[in-house]
Amino acid sequence: MAKIQYRQKDVSFVSRRKSRSRYSILKEGTPKRILIHGCPFLITINANNKLQVLSQRSVLIEKGIIKKVFESSKSSSINLKEIDLIYDAEQRGGVVITPGFVNAHAHPPMYLLRSTLTFAEDNLKKTLKGMARLEGKMKNNDFFLGAVGDFTEEQKSGITTTLSHYGIFDPIDKAAEISGHQVINALSALSNSHPKNTPTFVGKYLKASSRFYTQPAIAIHLLEKASPQILKRISFLQKKYKVLFTLHLAENKESTKEVVKKHGDLPVKVLDKYGLLGPLTLISHGIHLTREEILLIKKRKAGVVHLPTSNLLHKSGQFNYPLFHELKCTSQIALGTDSVVSKNRLDLLTEALQTKTIHQQKKIVPYEELFNMITAQGARLLGLNKVGKILPGFRADIAFWKLKDRGFLPYDPDNPSTLVSNMITYGGRNIRDLMINGSFVISNRTHNLIDESELLIQSQKAHLELRKRI
Ligand SMILES: [Zn+2]
Repeated sequence: MAKIQYRQKDVSFVSRRKSRSRYSILKEGTPKRILIHGCPFLITINANNKLQVLSQRSVLIEKGIIKKVFESSKSSSINLKEIDLIYDAEQRGGVVITPGFVNAHAHPPMYLLRSTLTFAEDNLKKTLKGMARLEGKMKNNDFFLGAVGDFTEEQKSGITTTLSHYGIFDPIDKAAEISGHQVINALSALSNSHPKNTPTFVGKYLKASSRFYTQPAIAIHLLEKASPQILKRISFLQKKYKVLFTLHLAENKESTKEVVKKHGDLPVKVLDKYGLLGPLTLISHGIHLTREEILLIKKRKAGVVHLPTSNLLHKSGQFNYPLFHELKCTSQIALGTDSVVSKNRLDLLTEALQTKTIHQQKKIVPYEELFNMITAQGARLLGLNKVGKILPGFRADIAFWKLKDRGFLPYDPDNPSTLVSNMITYGGRNIRDLMINGSFVISNRTHNLIDESELLIQSQKAHLELRKRI
């Protein structure tokens, strides 16, 4: 595997922060009890699933969990002897915090194939074919480097949890571990790029799940390629291990037609027939779903991942958000990036803006709903019930954003939710610091675990070697 990791994690953690004024280290070593003091604003989805912008807040974190959220004026009641590290969010205009974002659909190893579609100046089919040829020549180190590149780019734009859908497992697991990323690692039981994969192969990973850094889950690339036998096996595995099942569904009209031809019914009804439609089902794209299918998704509480940029680039058609709204099913929608093949940059604020823009003419998607889709709602649809909110008991996944930034200012102090609309309409930007599971993965805009400069050099090298293989 390529050498891109900083050595001696703890040592670098201390030395990289010593001179930084927002970090006061009270005890050496990896900090477990952290006080984030004096955020001018804390933006979250609250216990009642409503958007909340709170001013002058502090947060106490212990062993990766949010313990307390309180008014900054009450910080003095905290016993500093019990704190390892203080993050000063108050000085120089202050730092706003939000929950880390949740990306519900990605193919991280494809990172080495950046911009294949955005720069496509040939016809789409030909471009995709060329991309698949390169993908077919990728080796484990390419998958690994790609996944590190993908996760770290996501982290820089505030994403802390990702659903990876791909045909290999180990390089993604390793990449998540060294970059400190939270990943649901959905392994294809039936894959275009990895034709040897089977439900039995995936079952081995599910059985050994405690050995991995990532959380194993089941994927299939396309329903029209799955035999009834395979679907029965997957249904058995999902029930046995209670894991997430995800697939591309109704991405284009041809795919739906093929499913009807193969299975004799509409895609969502086929899933239901095999017991594969429930709260742990995540349908990616879902562009050509019928009224009947959306109602069934709602009834079974399954999730749908909306990927507007990918849909535009693949000319797949338009997701029927107005119909989801009419059928009161928008609470089942999450957002995802897809891979860099089908999106410009791996960022969810730009995807929220894209969602807002493309549906604007037919139906307004409120900012509150968009923010929910990329935080708490996205987490719930991934089966993560203690992720995506800054509330006591939740996993300490927190993104830190400078308030004195064009992505926030100017805002209306009488209506601080304008911070959220500004954040989304400004589109993507880089976070200042990022905490995942109670650890600072990025500090002062620098990754603490990955040497980014080395990562980029290695990625370019791997990309060139990959090109030589065809
Ligand atoms: Zn995809």
